[in-house]
Formats: sequence, C-alpha cells, structure tokens
Amino acid sequence: MDLVEFQGKQLFARNGVPVPAAGSVCRTVDEIVAAAEEHLGGGASAVVVKAQVKTGGRGKAGGVKLATTVDEAREHAESILGLDIKGHVVNVVYVEPASDIAEEYYLSVMHDRVNKGHLVICSREGGVEIEEVNRTNPDAVVKRPLLPADTVDGLSPATATEIVTEAELPAEVRDAAAGLLVALFNAYRAEDATLAEINPLIRTTDDRVLALDAKVSLDGSAAFRHDGYEEWKIDGIDADDPLEAEAKAKGIQYVKLDGNVGVLGNGAGLVMATLDVVAQNGGRAANFLDVGGGASADAMAESLALVLKDPSVKSVFVNIFGGITRGEDVANGVIEATKRLGDFPQTLVVRLDGTNAAEGRRLLEEAALANVVAAATMQDAAAKAVELAGQA
Ligand code: GDP
Ligand code: MN
Repeated sequence: MDLVEFQGKQLFARNGVPVPAAGSVCRTVDEIVAAAEEHLGGGASAVVVKAQVKTGGRGKAGGVKLATTVDEAREHAESILGLDIKGHVVNVVYVEPASDIAEEYYLSVMHDRVNKGHLVICSREGGVEIEEVNRTNPDAVVKRPLLPADTVDGLSPATATEIVTEAELPAEVRDAAAGLLVALFNAYRAEDATLAEINPLIRTTDDRVLALDAKVSLDGSAAFRHDGYEEWKIDGIDADDPLEAEAKAKGIQYVKLDGNVGVLGNGAGLVMATLDVVAQNGGRAANFLDVGGGASADAMAESLALVLKDPSVKSVFVNIFGGITRGEDVANGVIEATKRLGDFPQTLVVRLDGTNAAEGRRLLEEAALANVVAAATMQDAAAKAVELAGQA
C-alpha cells in the first residue's frame, strides 16, 4: 500500500524522522485559503500548496506551488484542485508552512531482493529524479546494501555516518543526516515498509535536515500486523488497483501488471516462470495469478473471471502443473469455469502437465470448447498466447 506525502510525513514524524511543521489536509479552495491564512498568520513566511496523489513529479506537473499571500494560495488552490497528474486527479491538497532550502539531497531505504536484505541510497544531488542522477553522475549516488545481520539492532549510527560521509553530505549536517537515517531505517522496519524515500532531503538555511517530501510503500503482506492499515485509508485518493482489491477480498493471489497476456497458474514459482516465458516470446503479462494448490473448479472460475475483467487482457495463458492436483481435476475446473463464465472474447491457451496430464488433455479435447486451445509445452503455450494477444 502506497501512502501519499502527508501520510508519509506523519509516519516519519511518529518515528522521529524530522519533517517540516505540520500542515493542513484540504479538499476545497476555501479550506486551502483558511489553512494558508492560519499558517501565514502563525508566523510562516510562505506556505507550499501540494497535490496529494500517489505519483511522483508533482512539482513539474504544476502540483506543488509556493504562496506568500492568501490570494496567491487561492490561485494555487484553484489551479491544483482537479489537476490531472499522470492520470491521478487531485482531490486532496496539503498546505504546509514552507521551508527555507539551502540544498537538496536524496535518501531512501528499500527492500533489496538481489541481496536479500535492505538497500540504502544516498546522494548529495536530490530534488531531481534519482534515476537521472544515476545516469548522468553515478559517482554522486551511494548505494549501500545492508544484510539482515547488519541490522539486527537497527541501523548503527556508525554505518549511517559512513553512508552520509561517502555521499559527501556537507560536514555541517553530517551528524544530523546520520541521525535522520537511523530514524528512517527504524521507521521503515517498525512500520513494515518496503520503501521509504525522501526526495528531497533538505538542508535548511539554518542547517537543519528535514524530509521535505515522503514516499512510503507499506508491505501488503504485513497488513495484519497493522490493523489492515485502516489508519491510512483516505477518501478521494485512489486506493489499490481495483482488481487487486477485489482479488484480496476473495483471497486470490493476484498482482496487476501492464501487459495484455492474462496469466493463471498454480504455484508462485510456476507463475513467475510463466511471466518470464511470456516475455521471452515477445509478449507482456497482464497479471500474476496463482490459483494455489487445489485448482478446483470454483477457484478456477473465480480466478479466470478476475483475469478476464481486466480490459487489457487479449488472451489468457493457463499454466497448470499437476502434482497433488490431478490433470483431470484441472481440466474439469477449466471446463466448468468456461461454462460458468459464458461468452468472452479472449482465447484461453491451456498447458497441462504433471500428474494425469494426458487424461486431463483428453477431457479438454472431448469438451471441444470454442475458446480453449491446448498446448503441449510451456513454450508452445506462451508463443500461442502472445500471438493471439497480438492479433486481438
Ligand atoms: P515532487 O515533485 O512530487 O517530488 O514533490 P516535492 O515535494 O519533492 O516538491 C518538489 C519541489 O518543490 C522540491 O524539490 C522543492 O524544490 C520545491 N518545494 C517543495 N516544498 C518546498 C518548500 O517548503 N519550500 C521551498 N522553497 N521549495 C519547496
Ligand atoms: Mn519529491
């Protein structure tokens, strides 16, 4: 689950990561004007009016604007509310007392699958896209993998100091930045985040360091440890992908991807291999879906229905390896599921292997379903599914 900026800052603040003075969450021009009045009247020399959407690059898109007067804040309110930023319409705006920026840095902690641990990235060049800095000036980007053993008692101040020193953050703010990094790592761990990114981390004109922006992703698999993340649900901001939300409610392991070949398999490992073989054949998977061990007709029908609901799905690759589940049960599941679903335009390419596969394939053949074709191997099935998706 991704948080919007003001939520990320709340999460940072409660874990001791320094952020600017608290602002106001607004939904109307009047609320923004009132918030600007309050903060400007309370001593802030300016306020920053910030679109709250789950995408980056808000500044460039006109979604982050400074105001020194209430009238200016009103103008910004009018231009930012309703703005479309990369498909995300702005319904919520955060009005924050502005910070005086001396310099902008970059700092993040994220899951590091390659190293089976965590990764800290720190750069003295922040406020721009870190991928861009990494391309143009890779020496300015410090990437430090942390193994679980390095972080048994949290991130040590010594390691944090090494990282910010290597990134050449100025001596005046080094200690503060190291302290902030220790707190950021604690926040990331305590809140079960998969990403905690600060871009920019700023040095203020009076040499404090603050998280001026916050991008936090929480691990959906840890939701049960945090009351289902209820506290972060907010009206007016797109939650998860609607199909993922539906899958979660039904207990289906589904992840939306951006291709057009629907994928359904049994076992997470097989499904991942299926995504790979689709890619190797020049296609792009529309989703990950693991029907799990049983692959009963019910599970099959619900899962297929979900995959087919995605308007970008042009063909579906059903990849089942019979283990404990026998081939004839899988075949009956597919047959039953397609009957229940009635008419649908996409073709299912079914690859069935493992226990009693021949029996299963025979059942599928006998059923002679109009929109189901059988394939002998995973490679054949992938090629066929990609071809069909291309034709559709
Ligand atoms: P993003 O564009 O979505 O990453 O939004 P950010 O929150 O990172 O803001 C974009 C840029 O706006 C920052 O890099 C700053 O340069 C500027 N900005 C944001 N807040 C403030 C502020 O309080 N004071 C000043 N002077 N500039 C700000
Ligand atoms: Mn930013």
